[in-house]
Amino acid sequence: MTTKLIDQFNRTINYIRISVTDRCDFRCIYCMSEKMKFLPRDDVLTLEEISRLANIFTFLGVKKIRITGGEPLVRKNIDSLFHTLSKNKSIEELTLTTNGSQLIHKAAMLKEAGVKRINISLDSLNPLTFNKMTRVGNLDEVINGINHALNIGFEKIKLNTVLMRNINDSEIFDLTNFAIKRGLDLSFIEEMPLGATSYERKITSVSNDEILKKLSENFDLEKTIYKTGGPAKYWSIRNTKTKIGLISPHSHNFCSDCNRIRISCKGELFLCLGQETKIELMPLLRLFPNNDDPIKDAIINSMKIKPKSHELD
Ligand code: SAM
Ligand code: SF4
Repeated sequence: MTTKLIDQFNRTINYIRISVTDRCDFRCIYCMSEKMKFLPRDDVLTLEEISRLANIFTFLGVKKIRITGGEPLVRKNIDSLFHTLSKNKSIEELTLTTNGSQLIHKAAMLKEAGVKRINISLDSLNPLTFNKMTRVGNLDEVINGINHALNIGFEKIKLNTVLMRNINDSEIFDLTNFAIKRGLDLSFIEEMPLGATSYERKITSVSNDEILKKLSENFDLEKTIYKTGGPAKYWSIRNTKTKIGLISPHSHNFCSDCNRIRISCKGELFLCLGQETKIELMPLLRLFPNNDDPIKDAIINSMKIKPKSHELD
């Protein structure tokens, strides 16, 4: 079947990121406020609506689906969504981004559902710093979750870290050694002006240039051409299995071959990671419970308004 999602700049969209909940068991200081108000249940897509959307998108040529949140693994009955998605044979890659807190209970289910790649966020190896950054997270649970996922054996497990100046930036080498010891890749994500934060981002943000400089003073890095279709650039650490990814959302380099869109848990289809251009799919899903055509048409039409690049600067 030919792909039908081609935008006004001739980019083919074959990757969607679906947020299945706004809720989370952590309150990371760069992402959420301490006293978050979450959406009423009726304002969030049901699991059936999410799988219906997944079917519509794969009909339109999407091959890769990343499940994210909030924390996806705290959504009630999330197992049933993965079970349903596992039956959709048009999905070539089903992936997950998680804070790792529930992996000890969920890793086997994810493997069974055909999840191949998992990104696990890990900002600190120091229990106090971890608690300061996540406000409520328990480091041991996450480390146990990572080790358990490694034992279960996924195709790829990658760690994601947001470095914040004077908070966890002193752990850059410890985190890298943790990844090396387990043969994992590790991406450092530049802090983005997304979500709520109680810090002054100009003060806390650590640039990728700085990270690269520090790492190359301590590790033997080699630039690679490795690509995952996202905004990361990768350096391998010689004599290890570990690659370091540097994700700079401020760079526009990746916009020209952007292949992705994202769907919020409210059913908003955002046409860019860093812009608010969107269409609303929830009203259509609810107005036409037995007819996918109006939803397909809306998605195809939305390709005309996908922005050329983000405006995160
Ligand atoms: N709860 C899951 C987790 O933490 O991995 C999935 C959702 S979380 C929003 C996805 C990723 O976005 C995490 O790696 C997190 O560190 C990152 N993130 C959240 N807020 C961010 C921000 N303001 N700037 C950069 N990265 C951020
Ligand atoms: Fe939750 Fe992930 Fe946001 Fe942290 S980054 S508060 S774990 S959604």
